[in-house]
Amino acid sequence: MIKKVFNNQGIVVKTGQFNENGSVITFLTDQGLLSCYAKNINKPKSKLRNALGLLNIVNFEITQQENFKHPILTHASCEFSSTITNLETECLKLFIIEALNKLFLYDKFKYETLKQIVKSLNSKTDTTIIALYFIRNAYKYLGNNLSFNYCANCGDADIKNFRSFNVEFGGVICHSCQNKLKTNIINENYFKILNEIETNFDKVSFDSTLYRKYSYNLFDYLTSNLYDLFDIQQRDAFNFYKQILNLEKI
Ligand SMILES: [Zn+2]
Repeated sequence: MIKKVFNNQGIVVKTGQFNENGSVITFLTDQGLLSCYAKNINKPKSKLRNALGLLNIVNFEITQQENFKHPILTHASCEFSSTITNLETECLKLFIIEALNKLFLYDKFKYETLKQIVKSLNSKTDTTIIALYFIRNAYKYLGNNLSFNYCANCGDADIKNFRSFNVEFGGVICHSCQNKLKTNIINENYFKILNEIETNFDKVSFDSTLYRKYSYNLFDYLTSNLYDLFDIQQRDAFNFYKQILNLEKI
């Protein structure tokens, strides 16, 4: 029997029960999606189960055998657990899983970008900033690379001239283009956040809690627009995450 062994690292993006004891696990890796069969994972004593939580970053080994459709998962160790310690971050995580699924983003999202987002879930970065960065990249991978730090209409990159933000016109709109396009004028704090997301997501330099209201509004606007575009009616995780944020009176 021909048997090949591979080692890899990936993020768990999907799990589905295959039979009584086993599940098919789908990883996003730097070579794209990879599904494998995890034997006995549904047994209570399974050592693999804890390592394979959704959005965990996992080092794994698979064995491809001749007559099986899926490679078999032979080893998995969790490099980074996305098991969350607070409700708000847990809700954001559920939203990310929902959006990846509903927007068919699994095979479009770049591994390194999703890894950066997952790792930030356990950092001090405000969840609204992470949510905004996630949805910004969702747009990008779906083919709409919105401008966050230059005018989408004329290319003006001076933040002092920014007046408006509009998905239909491609992102940020400057003062003179806003006059022509008649888009809504928004508060200048929005442009500070958009600029930070684009250039400095890893280490947002302002105190993000001060800007929470603005990052929340941008996230809500962008996600609602994208979900409408894809006609996604079921928005449980999106709504729940928003409710949690609203409880804290943004
Ligand atoms: Zn312009």
